[in-house]
Parts: sequence; structure tokens; C-alpha cells
Amino acid sequence: MLIAVPKEIQQGENRVALVPDTAAKLIKKGFEVGLEKGAGLNANFPDELYEKAGVKIFTSPEELYNVADIVLKVQRPLDHPDTGKHELEMIKKGSLLITFMYSLHYPEVAKKAAEAGINVISMEAIPRTTLAQKMDALSSQANIAGYKSVLMTADKLGKIFPLMMTAAGTISPAKVVIMGAGVAGLQALGTAKRLGAIVEVSDIRPTVKEEVQSLGGRFIEVETDEVMQDEGGYAKEASEEFLKKQKELIFKHVTEADIVITTALVPGKKAPVLVTEEMVKNMRKGSVVLDMAVEFGGNCEVSEKGATVEKHGVHIIGEPNLPSLVPVNSSEVYSKNLLSLLEHISKENNVELNLEDEIVKGSLIVYNGEVINERTKQLLN
Ligand code: NAD
Repeated sequence: MLIAVPKEIQQGENRVALVPDTAAKLIKKGFEVGLEKGAGLNANFPDELYEKAGVKIFTSPEELYNVADIVLKVQRPLDHPDTGKHELEMIKKGSLLITFMYSLHYPEVAKKAAEAGINVISMEAIPRTTLAQKMDALSSQANIAGYKSVLMTADKLGKIFPLMMTAAGTISPAKVVIMGAGVAGLQALGTAKRLGAIVEVSDIRPTVKEEVQSLGGRFIEVETDEVMQDEGGYAKEASEEFLKKQKELIFKHVTEADIVITTALVPGKKAPVLVTEEMVKNMRKGSVVLDMAVEFGGNCEVSEKGATVEKHGVHIIGEPNLPSLVPVNSSEVYSKNLLSLLEHISKENNVELNLEDEIVKGSLIVYNGEVINERTKQLLN
């Protein structure tokens, strides 16, 4: 079976789905691997490293897709700027595409894949179970995003993070508020603490309180009788009433912060608006907000996707793809997630999709010309 690794075409995407080391492991297992020329360059992996690992280099995506049985990507398929065709029109019928499809946000892409007869495993749909931990690409990428978010905000702030007692006086520590204590939020908390900031964290899932405290953060708790978590451990969509109460509670914390990092997401839904324009207006001049949820609608009312803007004297960073800004490590860990998944779904060097398997059942979105993921199907009806 030939595994194809095309160049990512989403603007600003620097990651590559497979790094040379991981490609070598797959080749050792009996797979063939083909790479579109230059696919790893933005992540600092030149073609020569892949060639050394035994990868064949293809000069055009069409040539590569023609012979591929499995396609590994980072971003969902898009219109190709060079060939003028949609990637799903180039991938061979019957092949397996593994990527972040986000079919709950882009159900029409799943439909298009079904029409093209391409099977799709979507990496964000891998169940968050112990067995699937090694394949959990949402976590591997969110970890890096959380770290990077702190560095970007620190760089923009005209202040330092730690308390500093010097002969010239005492500098008080920066205050960081993090909204959402998932994987990214907890990593941001740890990173900001290591740099010496005072960190406060808010989440709607009360179960994260202890995790926040154990990392040295102060937990901002919204008291409620509502059940805020589903069986999978994910946040449920909060009611209007809850969000109103939460906004009132966080107003003081946000407006006193030097940095606000928002990471709040509810799978498959538009991100909740947590930081309002009114809050931004009341923040100190020169403060920084980074909206990590900007790709899915944004947690901050005035953030702009793909731009850093100044609103009411506050810097608002709307970077939609933080892992892409650390492409070396993001690609390395994503590659390992894919390797673990391929090991799980293949025998020898042959992929066999067992629809009874929990991991396959959760993540296989399109199969044999049909969208089989229930929630995606509902969105298409
Ligand atoms: P996510 O990216 O979906 O969301 C980020 C955070 O935003 C979550 O903590 C969520 O509760 C929070 N949020 C949603 N609405 C909010 C609001 N109005 N205000 C404040 N916060 C809000 O989350 P994630 O990082 O993907 O993690 C989701 C869950 O999956 C967590 O319970 C995590 O522990 C779990 N998880 C399990 C495993 C595993 O067992 N293998 C691995 C990783 C994550």
C-alpha cells in the first residue's frame, strides 16, 4: 500500500502530516511512502531527509494521488491553487484519507468525499479513551498551541511576567486569565506559571478545578446546578442564563488582567462568546487578548481571524492555527499520532477497517460512498 503525503495547501499551514523518522518506520513495516516535492519544507524537513528514509518524491499532487491508497494530511481537503481541482477530485476512488476533517463544522466536505468514493478518518473524532491516547491529535496539537499562546502574548505585552525585586524597585508579576481548562488551557497555565505570572482559570466543567489548582492556578468557579459535561468528558453547550452569569463573574478578572487567553470550545458548536467588547473597553491599555477559538467563531467579541488588531488600546490576537507556528514539533507529534493509528488499523502492511472497533467506529466519517458519522449525517439532512 502506498501512503501519500501531499503538500498542505491551506494558507498559513506549515505542518506536514508525516516527518522523515515516522515515514521510515512505516516503510519498515512494509508500506511504501510517497511525498509531494517540498511538502516538509515549511516544517524544516527537506526532501533529502525523506529520500534517505526511503520515501519516493513526486513532483505533482496529481501524480501522487494517482498511486496512493492512503492519503495523510493535516487540513481538510480544499480547492488546489495549482491544479484548479478540489483535492477530493484528485484523490483516487476507494482510497483512505486521514486528516482533520472537522466534519461537524464542514459537513459538506464529508458529503463531497462520499460522492467521490473516498473513505475518511477524521483525527478530531478519535475517541478520547486510554487506548486511543497515542492517536489523540487534538491533544498533541492543543498542547503546543497552549504553550505558544503564552509566548505570543508575552511578546506583545510591554511588561515582564515575574515578580522582580531590584535595587530600582519591585516589579509586580503579570496577571494572566485563561478561559477554558482543556489541554491547551492547562498547558498555557503551566507555561505562564513557569514564566512567573499569576494565573487565573475559568471553565464550566467543575471537574477541572483540582487540575487547575495543582498546576498553581486560581480557579474562577461559576456556581450552577446545570450539568456542564457530557459522558465523553467534553463541555456541553452552556445555557444563555449560565453564560450571562459567567460573564458577570469574569468581568472583574478579565478587566484586571494583563493577558487573557481564551481556549473555550464545545465540540461541533460555535465557540461561546466570553470576552465582550465591553470587557475589552475596560481592560488596561496595552493588555493582550489571544483568542484561540477564533477558527470556530471566537471567544472574544472583537477578535479577527488571522489578524492582530488593536481595539480600545488592547492588542487582540486572532491566530487561528497556533500549532502551525511551531511546525517542527507539531508535525513530529502529529506524525506519531498517525503512525499509532495506522498500526492500530492495519495488519502487516494492509489496512483493514473493522467497523466494530471503537476507535474506527468513532473516527470513520465516510465509508463506501456514504457519510456514516451520525452527527455529520444529521447536519446534512
Ligand atoms: P476543548 O478544546 O473541546 O475545550 C476547551 C475547554 O473549554 C474545555 O475544558 C471546556 O470545558 C471549556 N469550555 C467550554 N465552554 C466554556 C465556557 N463557556 N467557559 C469556560 N470554558 C469553557 O477541550 P479539550 O482540550 O479537547 O478537552 C476536552 C476533554 O477531553 C477534557 O475533559 C479532557 O480532560 C478530555 N481529554 C481526555 C483525554 C483522554 O482521556 N485520552 C485526552 C485529552 C482530553
